[in-house]
Amino acid sequence: MEKIAIVTGASKGIGREIAKNLAKNGIKVIANYNKSQKEAYSLKEELQKENIEIDIVQANISQREEANKLVEFAIKKYKTVDILINNAGISEYKMFIDETDEDWNKVINTNLYSAFVMSQNVIPYMVHNKNGCIINISSIWGIVGASLEVLYSISKAGINGMTKALAKELGPSNIRVNAIAPGIINTNMNEKFTKQELEEIKSQIPLEKIGQVQDIAKCVNWLIEDNYTTGQIISINGGWAIT
Ligand code: NDP
Repeated sequence: MEKIAIVTGASKGIGREIAKNLAKNGIKVIANYNKSQKEAYSLKEELQKENIEIDIVQANISQREEANKLVEFAIKKYKTVDILINNAGISEYKMFIDETDEDWNKVINTNLYSAFVMSQNVIPYMVHNKNGCIINISSIWGIVGASLEVLYSISKAGINGMTKALAKELGPSNIRVNAIAPGIINTNMNEKFTKQELEEIKSQIPLEKIGQVQDIAKCVNWLIEDNYTTGQIISINGGWAIT
């Protein structure tokens, strides 16, 4: 039977590649975006050229009502959700001492609260089906921490904790919950780094290269196919952090 997946933050970068891969693998994809409407619809058009249809839904998933709206769309159209990819995220590059309450709310709500709300919304359907797969896109910084990205590290460490705890709670309902914790991946998120800074980062990575969005999407495909992996934080990082 056709599977239904929601991918948050699918207009760009990692989420876009995940959505594309799932759709090409015959999964019905609901691709969410917040601000990048043009990019989101360009993904739809790209896939239409291969006769693949996806749904595009605008929602700022850092707010409960909007996250609810996204899941309501899926339920109204497809009756259920089998796969949830909590991918949407933002980074914040600042001295910890300069972070404001507004920064805290923005980063934590976008990266962590959204995963809480989105998961709460889809879990009843997965429990009913006795089947489900939740994949959270975390970060290497949630494992080892990053200077100048303390709020971001907190949000991703929260995601890792949620992944492990929820996997235990939902295991008996045959719902698998895992996280992928990328190192550095070539997306807009890293536009802040100069060419020289990126070269320096590369020199610290044993595989001597920056990751590509496909590296993450391939792992998502595998996690969806698999049926015995849950509660794991899979770090795809070229060996940058080996814990
Ligand atoms: P991009 O900046 O390329 O894309 C971010 C995506 O998230 C966009 O589609 C954006 O949508 C969406 N988004 C942001 N805020 C919201 C919101 N409030 N509601 C809905 N969608 C939102 O980033 P990446 O692809 O690099 O990042 C994807 C995930 O991977 C993030 O969780 C990030 O933390 C994680 N990650 C990335 C790494 C990297 O090196 N790139 C490394 C480790 C983890 P829109 O533009 O439409 O607002």
